[in-house]
Amino acid sequence: MTDLETQWGRVQSRLKTEFGEAAYNSWLKPLSLIHADGGRVQMAVPTRFMRDWVQSHYMDRLRDLWSVENPDIEEVELKVAAGFHRATAAAAREKAAPSEAAPTPSARMLRQNDDDDEFGAPLDPRFTFEDFVVGKSNELAYAAARRVAESKAVNFNPLFLHGGVGLGKTHLMHAIAWHVRRQAPQRRVIYLSAEKFMYQFISALRYKDTMAFKQKFRAVDVLMIDDVQFIANKNSTQEEFFHTFNALIDHHRQVVISADRSPSDLEGIEERIRSRLGWGLVADIHPTDYELRLGILQQKVDGINGAKVPGEVLEFLARRIASNVRELEGALNRVVAHATLIGRPITMALAETLLQDLLRANDRRITVEDIQRRVAEYYNLRLADLLSPRRARTVARPRQVAMYLSKQLTTRSLPDIGRKFGGRDHTTVMHAVKRVEELVRSDGSLEEDIHHLRRLVEG
Ligand code: ADP
Ligand code: MG
Repeated sequence: MTDLETQWGRVQSRLKTEFGEAAYNSWLKPLSLIHADGGRVQMAVPTRFMRDWVQSHYMDRLRDLWSVENPDIEEVELKVAAGFHRATAAAAREKAAPSEAAPTPSARMLRQNDDDDEFGAPLDPRFTFEDFVVGKSNELAYAAARRVAESKAVNFNPLFLHGGVGLGKTHLMHAIAWHVRRQAPQRRVIYLSAEKFMYQFISALRYKDTMAFKQKFRAVDVLMIDDVQFIANKNSTQEEFFHTFNALIDHHRQVVISADRSPSDLEGIEERIRSRLGWGLVADIHPTDYELRLGILQQKVDGINGAKVPGEVLEFLARRIASNVRELEGALNRVVAHATLIGRPITMALAETLLQDLLRANDRRITVEDIQRRVAEYYNLRLADLLSPRRARTVARPRQVAMYLSKQLTTRSLPDIGRKFGGRDHTTVMHAVKRVEELVRSDGSLEEDIHHLRRLVEG
């Protein structure tokens, strides 16, 4: 046994005493040691769900206990590595000696290309093809992503993925990157958000380093840019993006783009760019259906050791939380978390109580249109006036109130809200929100109006 292993043994028994047998067995026992270097110990967890769980519930304690045992250790890092402890833990432990241990093959596989990371964005280890559940609503996007990841030739360029929030766009892009890095490590993959692309570009301009910027991006085999709607109305970024995009496509490099809407709906992006974005394969991800939601829940539950979630509770969640997969995951986490901590079985009644807020929100999604209608009625205006360019105070103030409420009560972005108010700019909406916030502080009757409207809209 290495020192490290002995220390881990002691940390384990402390954890068991502190958190109790049940929680220990469910969450902590499955952890296994990978190696330690430079003040950091790496541990493997079998699933992404468990990683998140341990990260948010046990990490502080885990870190403290480690550093009590081994004062050199300041940080604990969790890596998802299915089957790691079965296949390679023994080998890893051999190498886990305090000196510079070489990473094991699987640890190396998990490591990302540092160089690309610096330019791109880190990849979420949970977002792989294996972890993606396929259903009718996402099968085209999934198949296209797999094709891009697996094939050397460029089949369609760009691949344009679009769909609403939380439906798996980012997940699929990361999955492509993981797959390529694992299967063809010599191919250079960069994944980043359009926002990050913009910041990189702006800082290259500032430091007069645009050559390096161009070279870097144009030397990749696969470039993925997430949430490209972000560069709407950002003209110089758009221009640079377009140059990069064209250069890559001309050189038969794969480009993958995502956005929250189709290319033709990307307002604020130049027409020639929009049309170019639609030249390859455009794959949309539709809202999930019940079967897919249930499938996703089942897959997540399978990853949780010892958590018994009755089928009827899963069905209940799949039926009632239809908004998006992120919320669905959140709901499951909450129920499992609670039950594990309290040590009570998961029942329908428990799920219903714990999820009241989510369920209510999912039953009644407030829309910008609802708000506009209510506000117009309340102030005795015609809806058309509210959306019109008129700036008269009697119209402008209610409009601002409606924008404010839209920001508060829906999940729409500022540009989205602006569009729904007769195609206004997001800065107008931002201004309206600020203005109303200011006014409410000094104007009691406005405060009352808003309070009242809120109740009307929330029903
Ligand atoms: P988007 O980028 O479209 O907003 P994400 O890719 O971030 O959405 O997905 C939100 C969450 O839902 C992530 O945790 C992701 O893993 C999960 N998710 C979405 N679709 C699926 C799916 N089909 N199977 C498994 N998990 C999914
Ligand atoms: Mg995303």
